[in-house]
Amino acid sequence: MRLDREITCAQVVDLVTAYLEDVLDADDRERVEEHLVFCDGCSTYLDQIRQTIAVTGRLEPEDIPPALQDKLLAAFREWSPA
Ligand SMILES: [Zn+2]
Repeated sequence: MRLDREITCAQVVDLVTAYLEDVLDADDRERVEEHLVFCDGCSTYLDQIRQTIAVTGRLEPEDIPPALQDKLLAAFREWSPA
């Protein structure tokens, strides 16, 4: 485990579409997966994006409304341990 390379929730949000489209390089994919193991907020976010893709068939980064990202990130901060 390379925990010194942990990424933040904001970085996961940035990477999640590429992650789901399987275009991340191996290092980034590993960091996203490590983050998802312990972060319920990002796991929930990933599920929501997956559902969006299931409905629309594909997802472009601009398909995620900035307002939704802001709302989710605010929720992540509330859920995070102090
Ligand atoms: Zn997170």
